[in-house]
Amino acid sequence: MFMRTEFSTQNFEETKKLGKLLALELSGGEVICLSGELGAGKTTFTQGLLEGLGAEKPYTSPTFVVMKEYELAKSKTKNQIKKVYHFDAYRLEEKDFSALGWEEIIANNKNICIIEWADKLKKIIPVRAIWIGFEWLDEERRKIILYDQFAKIRRPC
Ligand code: ADP
Ligand code: MG
Repeated sequence: MFMRTEFSTQNFEETKKLGKLLALELSGGEVICLSGELGAGKTTFTQGLLEGLGAEKPYTSPTFVVMKEYELAKSKTKNQIKKVYHFDAYRLEEKDFSALGWEEIIANNKNICIIEWADKLKKIIPVRAIWIGFEWLDEERRKIILYDQFAKIRRPC
């Protein structure tokens, strides 16, 4: 069963902060799927998440490089997380992902994967993935919906 948690952010800093908060919940092996239109806040959220995980800047968008890999410095390593992968599927198809070593990357519980436009890849996303939807409300406000099937186990309420 999925738990659905809805957030609304009033500016980009709040969206980043939400990403940072999610970083605190991760223990390694998570696949984080982001969906929503262009400008909805997926990359902004990812920047907060990367910061929260201790990835080294710059956090350039992988839109043109397909995939960006961050190796966490030993001192920054949280739990057992060693690498963070940021994908942008905007210009990609499912078949392109196997060429990138997708299966191995998601199977490794020392990795965290963040995928923008993940809804284009439904067939290759594992069921355990955490899905986050971004909706544009107005210039400054976004609705952010987290679907997390493990949330209930980790944070009983
Ligand atoms: P996406 O990756 O979904 O295309 P980006 O994060 O690249 O979106 O862009 C979002 C844009 O909207 C940025 O320019 C950001 O500064 C702006 N923005 C304004 N308000 C917000 C908000 N509440 N959350 C996220 N981004 C916001
Ligand atoms: Mg983006």
